[in-house]
Amino acid sequence: MKTDVIIVGAGPTGLSLACQFIRYGINFVILDKKETTTPYSKAIGVQARTLEIYEQIGLASKLIEQGAIAAKARMVVSGEVRGEVEFGEMGKGLSPYPFVLIVEQGKHEKILYDFINSNGKDVLWQAELENFSQDETGVKAKVKTANGETETIEAKFLVGCDGAKSPVRHSLGLTFEGSTFERMFYVADVQIDWKFSHDALHAFLMKDTLLAFFPMTGENQWRIVGTFPEEFAKDEGEVLYEEIEDRIKHDAELNLDITKVNWFSTYKVHTRHVNKFSEGRCFLAGDSAHIHTPAGAQGMNTGIQDGYNLAWKMALVLKGKAEKKILETYNEERLENAKNLLKTTDRFFNLVASPDAFLAYFRTHIFPYIAGVAFSIDAVKKFVFPRISQIGINYRHGSLSETDGNFSVKAGDRMPYFTIEDASIYDRLREPKFHLLLYSDGASDFQNFAAELKNEYASMLDFSVAPLYPNIAEIFGAKTSFVLLLRPDNYIGLISSEVSVEKLKEYLDKI
Ligand SMILES: Cc1cc2nc3c(=O)[nH]c(=O)nc-3n(C[C@H](O)[C@H](O)[C@H](O)COP(=O)(O)OP(=O)(O)OC[C@H]3O[C@@H](n4cnc5c(N)ncnc54)[C@H](O)[C@@H]3O)c2cc1C
Repeated sequence: MKTDVIIVGAGPTGLSLACQFIRYGINFVILDKKETTTPYSKAIGVQARTLEIYEQIGLASKLIEQGAIAAKARMVVSGEVRGEVEFGEMGKGLSPYPFVLIVEQGKHEKILYDFINSNGKDVLWQAELENFSQDETGVKAKVKTANGETETIEAKFLVGCDGAKSPVRHSLGLTFEGSTFERMFYVADVQIDWKFSHDALHAFLMKDTLLAFFPMTGENQWRIVGTFPEEFAKDEGEVLYEEIEDRIKHDAELNLDITKVNWFSTYKVHTRHVNKFSEGRCFLAGDSAHIHTPAGAQGMNTGIQDGYNLAWKMALVLKGKAEKKILETYNEERLENAKNLLKTTDRFFNLVASPDAFLAYFRTHIFPYIAGVAFSIDAVKKFVFPRISQIGINYRHGSLSETDGNFSVKAGDRMPYFTIEDASIYDRLREPKFHLLLYSDGASDFQNFAAELKNEYASMLDFSVAPLYPNIAEIFGAKTSFVLLLRPDNYIGLISSEVSVEKLKEYLDKI
């Protein structure tokens, strides 16, 4: 079998990468040792940036239809509600999706899989990567298929989306340094009878453990996530469900009746990242490259964005429009992001569950009472939302980012969201191409510029001119005409007050 890219693993990272390759018209084979998509709820928090990415292929609305917006959180101390935070519209004006969407990973993966099927492709299920080799020209993978035979698949590139234990990472000899939390986590999807309404996340704030209830679709259905205390010395797999239920009831300190258990699991949490996202023609994405605490619902969303970053670069190389060197910027941009992510999730986890006396006091005696007010302040929302929703991730220091002029939005930032005449700017940015946006103050008609661009770059670049509306001038901090070159992942590659074909040429030649 011959193809362009082998994707190992059809979890959310592999499936969403396959969707991107379909978008770019790239040939691929995606395989997984499992029989089909996961039936479990696993990752339930879908962030705004993921929805913005899915919007380009018509999947955002499908996901939203199957999920629920996380509208508020109640903080519970000793069985009583001590505070409430509204965050259903926390990112209003910052993204077309100003919320966190709650939808089970099983449903999420099915939507991605249906998209793949509807484009005439399928996953090679029950197919296990046994080993692979690579040279200057390509990769050869030996795969054990459902009928027990070993097949060889040849490709130009291989992407290991094969989860935390990643055989691809091991074979490449890459390291996965970090640490493992002492405390055991549990997760349970259950039906509950209790006094609290089903319209909010309930966070139980305690001295040294973590307990949170997330409302799920279906009557009285909840996802419970919690930790055992440090002295609980069992291993994953040794814990009985009864021990989890006892723990929940002990920590919640209130009457609750768990009437049905749909799924439960225990796990140790690691904080680790790979030393390098690629080796030769082989790449890593998702949990194979980074794992961390579930604080902030970031893991799956980060894997989806790894793939989104890699896909356009690989597509350009496979189509002969860019040098292979551009693939080095995948490691440059996503390794930096993974390192930052581990720091923030560790900090966030400490805030919500550290046994440190000061933090424990703050959590149980101060935070619940001030949180509601704090989160209603615009400046707080503007600080918190970009960090949680992943719209604030930037590649400002990357080699593909070039800012020429004094702007408040820099090259390497995601294209900010705004509307023009009630239409989202993103409606114009769905084509899998570079987008050149020229915001004109009217001093020149730029006709020669437009004509030259059409001649030289029509096949890879979409060009549009718009007036420098006041809201655009304010967002970008621009007083005169300027030009924006967006990469196919809608990150700003070049922002410049010099509107010339030479400037663009110089930038595109680098790619
Ligand atoms: C309880 C819990 C709650 C979570 N909540 C959230 C959340 O709300 N939001 C969020 O963003 N993240 C969350 N996460 C993290 C999220 O689940 C993971 O980050 C995500 O599943 C990673 O996706 P992946 O595709 O990279 O890896 P995986 O989902 O692990 O998929 C890897 C795939 O590779 C396949 N595979 C492995 N080896 C081979 C081989 N040799 N050959 C063929 N196939 C192979 C496996 O069968 C598997 O299907 C949560 C995790 C847990 C445990």
